Amino acid sequence: MATASTAIEPKVKISATKLMIGGKWVDAASGKTFPTINPSTGEVITQVAEADAADVDKAVASARGAFEKGAWKKMSASQRGVLMNRLADLLEKNIEELAQLESLDNGKPYHVALAADLPLTIACYRYYAGWADKIQGKTIPVNGRYFTYTKHEPVGVVGQIIPWNFPLLMQAWKLGPALAAGCTVVLKPAEQTPLTALRVGELIQEAGVPDGVVNILPGYGPTAGGAIARHMDVDKVAFTGSTEVGHLIMRAAADSNLKRVTLELGGKSPNIVFADADMDQAIEGAHFALFFNQGQCCCAGSRLFVEEKCYDEFVEKSVARAKKRTVGNPFDKATEQGPQVDQDQFNKVMSYIESGKKEHAKLLAGGNRVGDKGYFIEPTVFADVQDNMKIAQEEIFGPVMAILKFKDIAEVVERSNKSNYGLAAAVWTKDITKAHAIADGVRAGTVWVNCYDVFDAAAPFGGFKQSGLGRELGEYGLANYTEVKTVTVKL
Ligand code: ADP
Ligand code: MG
Repeated sequence: MATASTAIEPKVKISATKLMIGGKWVDAASGKTFPTINPSTGEVITQVAEADAADVDKAVASARGAFEKGAWKKMSASQRGVLMNRLADLLEKNIEELAQLESLDNGKPYHVALAADLPLTIACYRYYAGWADKIQGKTIPVNGRYFTYTKHEPVGVVGQIIPWNFPLLMQAWKLGPALAAGCTVVLKPAEQTPLTALRVGELIQEAGVPDGVVNILPGYGPTAGGAIARHMDVDKVAFTGSTEVGHLIMRAAADSNLKRVTLELGGKSPNIVFADADMDQAIEGAHFALFFNQGQCCCAGSRLFVEEKCYDEFVEKSVARAKKRTVGNPFDKATEQGPQVDQDQFNKVMSYIESGKKEHAKLLAGGNRVGDKGYFIEPTVFADVQDNMKIAQEEIFGPVMAILKFKDIAEVVERSNKSNYGLAAAVWTKDITKAHAIADGVRAGTVWVNCYDVFDAAAPFGGFKQSGLGRELGEYGLANYTEVKTVTVKL
């Protein structure tokens, strides 16, 4: 564990712990609450109101009301942009407090939240604020004496269900395009990490976003989340989470009102290192690709394919790098890795480590718990991993690196694509031909060349195959929040 000497004491006051419905902070209809846990200690931070179906009904009615009439409906597109920029300014003004709250609730290092999560979150709101008055249709030359044009109208009331790994950022990816397009929202944060979403709710009010435009319902997946997914008056559901739940969301949409569905799901992304790569950069890049955010990234580079010619050197240096990774108090500047988010995730990751050992992958670093409280796991490296092992096929979502050996381009492309997932991929090489061969050959929504986890609000992100449906971010992400209306006028 990192020493406590460089650690700061978080100074957050937690003000928002209820449901935000129609601009009011209210208890759940049932009166129930649930605890949110500090993953560094396993202790309860605070109790939060627990939404269920009755609260979803109220929130959807409020969102419907705000969509159909009132200030939001009447507001000009550019004014929506102004409000979103004001929200971004408020996030910036409260950046340290928000980063601390994120770190406390999620376990990610505070200095990482401050340097990465918060700036990306703020940039996302600003990016989509700019789109608000630029969402335009076309004029279409049709046969006959008619004038035909299209309008891109807001899709309506949107249900948004988000995960716990990047709570603030995932909220921004969801609210940004929804608000720019003029939708209204019922958002459910993950039960593990409700606190920052609620704090942003307060800032949304402070920015002057009309009541009912954004409603926030902390609660559990099968109850509150399920009620959103099957609601007859929700026009679209945007979900980020596991592939397993993605199937449930799509089924709920099919069984209810055919609401539009966008899904950002799991991954098992190939990260491919050729022997001609800058070795130090590739080693550090592969370390970051896997261990960033405690390994809790849907796009983690979790199948690390290394060319035979540099395999031994790469494995040795990657193991040394993993052993140096500092694990401990998220409020210590020296900490690279905090705890996993909760006991369930901790157990799941530990069971994958057991499975790797049982299937005789070569365990070269880590493999154990760190300390005796909280959910800390040693940076773990398995080498000589085979394609058919569980740790090479299933999403681990933890600090467990799996290194596989390959010989040539055709082989590594084929093996990369033998997966139900298709979220991301990366390649490390100085040879532009190899880089393009990989970028062209892999079935994945994002390909990084000599870099990893480079995100920008303007660049679309999403999955092929069972990694999802639709794209988020950029103009493509915005399109999923509009309906196209064709108007034809007789001349
Ligand atoms: P993980 O297993 O990594 O926690 P999940 O897909 O279970 O990922 O969770 C992501 C989000 O989906 C969370 O907000 C969670 O509450 C929600 N969720 C989980 N199960 C369901 C469900 N059956 N219906 C709707 N939402 C759900
Ligand atoms: Mg789950």
